[in-house]
Amino acid sequence: MSHPKTVQDYIRTIPDFPHAGILFRDVTTLFQDARGFRMAVDQLLSPYVGARIDMVAGLEARGFILGGAVAHQLSKGFVPIRKKGKLPAKTIEQDYALEYGRATVEIHDDAVEPGQKVLIVDDLLATGGTAEAGIRLIERLGAEVVGCAFVIDLPDLGGRARLEAMGVPVHAICSYE
Ligand code: 5GP
Repeated sequence: MSHPKTVQDYIRTIPDFPHAGILFRDVTTLFQDARGFRMAVDQLLSPYVGARIDMVAGLEARGFILGGAVAHQLSKGFVPIRKKGKLPAKTIEQDYALEYGRATVEIHDDAVEPGQKVLIVDDLLATGGTAEAGIRLIERLGAEVVGCAFVIDLPDLGGRARLEAMGVPVHAICSYE
């Protein structure tokens, strides 16, 4: 008898995307499968059931798909952390390093209240640079990041250690060495 499929079984790997030598972990095949998507959302939020969470924040763009579903399931609000120039009202911005160059993410300055407890959601944790920028934005607004939840962790790239060193617990459903 074949074993039931896990979340990882629904993820597709695309070699040489977006650059030669990169193995891209493609979660569209997870999202498009009803059972896979439900399993991923349920497993993402399971550590937080019964915990105090006031708001879910998603990192552009796949973090919006997952974070929206998690927020709905926890009956909480959702706030987007977006690439620079996409949010219409007053924002604060945070710069961070990429492999080549830099990037900037933004959040509306009224997206969270001081003292609120926020869960950050994204599809994949690599170096942790994107999530760290998200944590800094939330903390600059006076709120607290109580966790970061990912479908995939790439532990060799050190993101988990980096976020945990900031005092933020990390939850990931699966990993690729
Ligand atoms: P980090 O900032 O941790 O180095 O990179 C994580 C960010 O890059 C996440 O927002 C994630 O969506 C994106 N990312 C990097 N590599 C991959 C990949 O192989 N697959 C997917 N789905 N996203 C990736």
